[in-house]
Amino acid sequence: MKKSYKSITENQFKLFDNMLEGVSVYKLIFNDKGKAIDGILEYVNRVTVETMNINPEEDIGKKASEIVKSDVNKAYLNVINEFIGTGEYKRLEIYYPPTNKHFLISGFNMPNNYFAILRVDITEQKEAEEKLKESHANLELKVQERTVELDMLIEELKSSNEELQKFAYIASHDLQEPLRTISNFTQLIERRYKGKFDSDADEFIEYIIDATKRMQQLIRDLLMYSKVTSQQEDFKLVDTEKIVKQLISDLQVTFKENNVKITRNSLPNVCADERQLIQLFQNLISNAIKYRKPKEPPKIHISAKKEDNECVFSVSDNGIGIESEYFDRIFRIFQRLNTKEECEGSGIGLSIVKKIIDRHSGRIWVESEPGNGSTFYFTIPLKTCPKN
Ligand code: ADP
Repeated sequence: MKKSYKSITENQFKLFDNMLEGVSVYKLIFNDKGKAIDGILEYVNRVTVETMNINPEEDIGKKASEIVKSDVNKAYLNVINEFIGTGEYKRLEIYYPPTNKHFLISGFNMPNNYFAILRVDITEQKEAEEKLKESHANLELKVQERTVELDMLIEELKSSNEELQKFAYIASHDLQEPLRTISNFTQLIERRYKGKFDSDADEFIEYIIDATKRMQQLIRDLLMYSKVTSQQEDFKLVDTEKIVKQLISDLQVTFKENNVKITRNSLPNVCADERQLIQLFQNLISNAIKYRKPKEPPKIHISAKKEDNECVFSVSDNGIGIESEYFDRIFRIFQRLNTKEECEGSGIGLSIVKKIIDRHSGRIWVESEPGNGSTFYFTIPLKTCPKN
């Protein structure tokens, strides 16, 4: 494929002939300012013939601008001129429309104003890159679509959750009023008519009064449960030692009635909703009393220790204990292990405790053995707190 390029030796041509890259050699044409403005094609190797669709018989001897009529020429000339000016040849990626190919071009200067251009066919690599880009773009689009969907779902969930909270609050709040009327009037009937009907009637009235009381308790607890989210206070630095001390003093009458022995270690300050923390201790303490062993006075111990970046509190008792299979279930709403005949309750106390702990980004769990008491653990993350 050599024609008139005499200054290159036969061996050099052989080298070009067998190269896997396309090679073409041009004799550069300069303007009077010394700038290359075109080049006459002097040599092409086999790979160039195949990939550029060049016919050596026709094209050798022609100007580059006659053979390749596209912007590619301009780009070539820019790079060649830059090379001549700076001695640095920049690699150039081009797309060659006639053969629908992508090339990575480099070149080097040869004696007597000849310039060799090396052309690596990167079409496959480019196509793979394009496909990858396309699938990336598709993936990104899908991720965006899913994110929008998820955001919408979260919004829906939030608002339905808010609705539910409102519903629970309003329902339990508004139910209290008619129930109070039922309670008052059944108590009135009892007082006024007890012994005036037959013994069955007295018994029925007792049932109504009893059921009404339980319903009042259930509604009170439900209201309390919904208030964990509907009536929150901001977090502030809470002296748990102080609030537990106060709680113990407030519960003195209950403790005396039930012969309770309560002890505690020194307790730290934590960042929390004070009212909710009081509520939490109160629920755990009252359970410790409620689920005591029949013939043993309740013993309760409260302690806390700092671990890593949280504070682990514990409330332990010497009560009836819990089977390990129920360790998770007891924290769910309305889940009770004891019948109302054994122990009064609504199954809401621990779910309130759990909800409070969730709001504080803590954890709660129980360790227990039937007959050997229970220890309820909960954590409060240690963090800097807004000033009180
Ligand atoms: P309630 O006491 O109204 O039933 P809770 O949610 O406070 O509801 O408790 C759920 C269940 O967990 C109780 O019914 C009881 O079986 C069990 N439980 C809670 N605390 C204790 C405890 N200290 N010792 C033994 N069992 C307990």
